[in-house]
Amino acid sequence: MLKKRVEKALEKAGRKGEEVKIVAVSKTFPPESVRALYSLGHKDFGENYVQEARKKVKELSLENAEWHMVGKLQKNKVKYIPETFQWFHALDSVELAELLEKKLREKSKTLKVLIQVKYEEGEHRVGVEESDIKALIEKCLSCEHIKLRGLMVLPPIPEHPEDSRPYFQRLRRLRDSLLDAGFPEDSLKELSMGMSDDFEVAIEEGATIIRVGRIIFGERRYE
Ligand SMILES: *Cc1c(COP(=O)(O)O)cnc(C)c1O
Repeated sequence: MLKKRVEKALEKAGRKGEEVKIVAVSKTFPPESVRALYSLGHKDFGENYVQEARKKVKELSLENAEWHMVGKLQKNKVKYIPETFQWFHALDSVELAELLEKKLREKSKTLKVLIQVKYEEGEHRVGVEESDIKALIEKCLSCEHIKLRGLMVLPPIPEHPEDSRPYFQRLRRLRDSLLDAGFPEDSLKELSMGMSDDFEVAIEEGATIIRVGRIIFGERRYE
């Protein structure tokens, strides 16, 4: 059903035949739920909390799966990233990029990275300001183990899916302006935007990766 809706949204956007990567965000859900989806052929899983992810990744040990860290990364958790994740969606500072590069180098690993852009004020909002993004891209491009792939945005929780559209549009325009400025296309190919409530709007606005949890696994129960 999710795949059908993704296809429909692509069609509506005139993007028929294009692919959207569906990251199944499994935070708070048990390893068995991940394994069940994996056994159906799904390969991309997302987590927000490094400790929870480490346990799941180790326990499940799924061949060829790609694990995506989609949440804010604390500096003291950087050391666990290389052996746990293949993707990181929330890079937001030069300092964090340097710490990541150092750990990746030590473990001879690479990491596909998206820069999270901040469009909202408030301390719980993470992301880099638009005005600082060029410096952060330059930093990533100078790193051997960080493979920059694109941008990510996390709008405020929408009341209506349309509430998110301006954020998605803004991210796409930012990406286009960075391409115009001459940054390499490979490093800006992906737009990670859209969650269970607004992924169709995100696809209409050019999302290449959606991060969805509840629509796949059901409502989350926090203890
Ligand atoms: C939890 C989370 C998601 C998935 O949210 P759903 O509402 O379950 O689809 C996506 N991205 C981030 C950054 C998240 O924290």
